[in-house]
Amino acid sequence: MLENISKINIVRIGECMTYSSLKEIGENILESFRGMIEEFKIFHHEAPAVDTIDALLLTMILHEEIGGHVLGITDADLTTKDEDEFYNTIFGGKNDMNHVAVVSTKRLSPLNVATEADYDLYVERTIKVSLHEVGHNFGLTDHASYKLAPDGSLCPMSRGEFNKFGYLGYVRAIIDGRGHNFCDECTHFLKKFRPFQRRFARLLKDKCFLH
Ligand SMILES: [Zn+2]
Ligand SMILES: [Zn+2]
Repeated sequence: MLENISKINIVRIGECMTYSSLKEIGENILESFRGMIEEFKIFHHEAPAVDTIDALLLTMILHEEIGGHVLGITDADLTTKDEDEFYNTIFGGKNDMNHVAVVSTKRLSPLNVATEADYDLYVERTIKVSLHEVGHNFGLTDHASYKLAPDGSLCPMSRGEFNKFGYLGYVRAIIDGRGHNFCDECTHFLKKFRPFQRRFARLLKDKCFLH
């Protein structure tokens, strides 16, 4: 069980995003995990002077230095020890031993982020990968991409086959196809983490007893 799930620490590693974009990401997380996450705090972490970071190592550093329920965002490539070279660079990951998830924005950017629309798309993709990884922090697991949220978009936990799409194809087909709302199955799973909603419902009920 996660301790302190009502608050998430968002950590920017390096200069990948503006402060207002990080705020936008935090607000979207609060919206998608309504009743589960109540507040976010933004931190900055100096980036090591490297183009790639071992995902697991980064989660351990963030756990040590920041702690709690953490989402780290970096523009360095995140690598894993996977034997298969095709899979060893990831969009995001979550350490099963703590409550730290990390996201790499490196492969989420359109070919150039010179225009405002491109930058918006870059932030939007980062939001979607962040929702997926924070979902893992709550214990949600990946599922096939055909499970839709009630609004018709792909659930944030949906996943496709890398070798079918390639990185860019994957970003366009799966990540861009995701929305901000979870499918019924994930929503059902998340319900147990909604103490605030339960508290609110109880308050309403108590109120009703007064009449
Ligand atoms: Zn996943
Ligand atoms: Zn789902």
